[in-house]
Amino acid sequence: MRPAMKLEYAVFDVNARRAEFPLLDQSINAQPLVYLDNAATTQKPLVVLEAIDSYYRSINSNVHRGAHTLADRATTAFEDARARVAGFINAPAPEQLIFTRGTTESINLVAQSWARPQLRPGDEILVSGLAHHSNIVPWQMVAAATGARVVPIPITADAELDMSAFTALLGERTRLVALEQVSNAMGSIHPVEQVIAQAHAAGAVVLLDGAQSVAHLPVDVQQLDVDFFAFSGHKMYGPTGIGGLYGRRELLEAMPPWQGGGEMIETVSFERTTYAALPYRFEAGTPHIAGAVGLGAAVRYLQGLDRAAMYAHEDALLAYALELAADFPGFRLVGRAARKIAVLSFLLEGGHPHDVGTLLDRQGVAVRTGHHCAQPAMTQFGIPGTVRASFALYNTREEVERLFAALEKVRTFL
Ligand code: PLP
Repeated sequence: MRPAMKLEYAVFDVNARRAEFPLLDQSINAQPLVYLDNAATTQKPLVVLEAIDSYYRSINSNVHRGAHTLADRATTAFEDARARVAGFINAPAPEQLIFTRGTTESINLVAQSWARPQLRPGDEILVSGLAHHSNIVPWQMVAAATGARVVPIPITADAELDMSAFTALLGERTRLVALEQVSNAMGSIHPVEQVIAQAHAAGAVVLLDGAQSVAHLPVDVQQLDVDFFAFSGHKMYGPTGIGGLYGRRELLEAMPPWQGGGEMIETVSFERTTYAALPYRFEAGTPHIAGAVGLGAAVRYLQGLDRAAMYAHEDALLAYALELAADFPGFRLVGRAARKIAVLSFLLEGGHPHDVGTLLDRQGVAVRTGHHCAQPAMTQFGIPGTVRASFALYNTREEVERLFAALEKVRTFL
């Protein structure tokens, strides 16, 4: 919960919002769908579906070639989307927003292009004990190639970052802190402002994994003073296969390209190739133009909402779920961070998470079960995984009740 925010459930017109998401209006296993797997991916509003459809129906062409009218229109649509997405996270300039396939590719880009050329044996990369695998494995690969070390930042029993351990780990060997702003497995919101300030004071660069934060918290990369910010379009009501990497200009400009190919060059000869300026030097090949257009539409959609009310609505859903969970026999909440987004990770006494998930699905309730790509975190908590219900702007109090009514039935099977 975000203590600074008031719970204003009533001011957010959730029913009007739901009507904008066609997928939600269906039955699964003969029950109205309750979609609570939003941390994995969110559903898409009609405006996003229409933007993609209309792009392919009337604009589709390749970008940056300027060869004909449609190519110009496609280029304009692509660059308008970049400017809108950059504006959403308050990047100082659109060219500091590189389109990627998503958070995973953004992190790999930084790993290969920023970290790999400069890490030396003994250098340290600090990563969170709650990290998603995509914010662990790319650093392990770079560490194996350079002799650097990946060092986990311990997590408390409440699934919060252990800040005194973090302070103790920070040192002159620390070159990079790679941290999720919000944990996907447990919903914890980390004190990233403090982490960034401390890391900078120690001379380290900070990458924030914003996969779970960008749709559920206000994100301002300049205010955060973060060096890199990675995120995925599909977790913020946009399409799959598109996302972004924000980078501080001087870092991006000093980084060699990661992938070579068309679109990323200035001139090519067999003797010498020179590279294009930002952002194109990091966007080799034909980009996901329709995806960028769809993501631009998703951002415009979010910008049109009262986002403070939307965040408060999601907080209220979590508060209600926690209230129902408190009285529910055998319910064990996993992750009790003081600041959380609306993610309810839990175990049900006597039930393996997969069985609970399957039994919920039979009642039309879609949740995620398993380790949530955060195996080290599960190991620390000594559990194989959890059941995770994650909420989005279109979820309702009735759906929270449906979840618990369905869990009540699950209990009778266990
Ligand atoms: N980081 C976090 C915290 C996530 O939750 C996810 C996806 O679940 C990712 C990274 C990877 O995102 P993607 O698969 O969109 O690249």
